[in-house]
Amino acid sequence: MLKDEYKHKGLRKKLVKELIEKGLTSSEVISAMEKVPRHFFLESAFLEQAYSDIAFPIGDGQTISQPFTVGFQSQLLMIKRGDKVLEIGTGSGYQSSILCEMGAKLFSIERIKTLHKNAKAILDFMGYKAELFLGDGSLGLKVFAPFQKIIVTAGAPLAPEPLLEQLDNGGIMVIPIGNEKEQVMVRYKKDLSGNVTREEHGIFKFVPLLGEKGWKTTSVR
Ligand code: SAM
Repeated sequence: MLKDEYKHKGLRKKLVKELIEKGLTSSEVISAMEKVPRHFFLESAFLEQAYSDIAFPIGDGQTISQPFTVGFQSQLLMIKRGDKVLEIGTGSGYQSSILCEMGAKLFSIERIKTLHKNAKAILDFMGYKAELFLGDGSLGLKVFAPFQKIIVTAGAPLAPEPLLEQLDNGGIMVIPIGNEKEQVMVRYKKDLSGNVTREEHGIFKFVPLLGEKGWKTTSVR
C-alpha cells in the first residue's frame, strides 16, 4: 500500500523550493509538483532519490525524468484545464500524473510493456483518468487527434511529422531534439492558421525516442 506521509510532504516541499530556485515559475506546475508523491514511482528503497533533483533508473534501461525537466517541460506546454494532451514516453507515469493533476485530458503512449503496465496501475491507484497505450508513440495517436498539447519525453533526431500533423491549430508541442547524447528542448507553436514556429529552450539529456519516426527499431517490447 503506497502511503504519502508527513515526512514525504516535507521532502517534496524542499525539492520544489529547489526547483523554484532553478527557475520554475508556473504556479500551476509548482502546485501539481507539490501534490504528486514522486516516491510512488520508484521502489520504496529509493526515497532519497525520489526527492532529489535527479533522473533515476526505472528498469528496462529507462529513467524517470529529473524533476526540474518534468517541471520545465510542463511549464513550456502552458496547460489549460481540459486540454487534450498527448504524451510520448509514459515511463514511470510521473510526468503523466503531473499533467493529470494540472487538469489535462491525457493520452500517453509507452513502447515497453512492463513500464506501461506499472504506470497504468499507479495512475489508477491515484485516481487519474488517463488513457494509456502500448505502442510506437513516434507515430502519435491519429484516431484521437487533434491534440492541443503534445509532449515528448525521449530524445528525437527530428520532430516526427505525424506529431506535428496531429497538433491542433493554436497548439504547442515540446520535444527534445538532438543526437543520442544531448538534445535541445524545442517548443513548436502552431497558430490558428496552421503555421508552425520553433523556439529553443536549453540543453537536456534524454534516453532516445525509438520507433519508426525516432532512432531505430519499430518493434514494441
Ligand atoms: N516522463 C517519464 C517519467 O516521468 O517517468 C520518463 C520517460 S523516459 C525519460 C522516456 C520513455 O520513452 C521511456 O520509458 C521509453 O521506453 C519511452 N519511449 C522511447 N521511444 C518511444 C516510442 N517510440 N514510443 C513510446 N515510448 C517510447
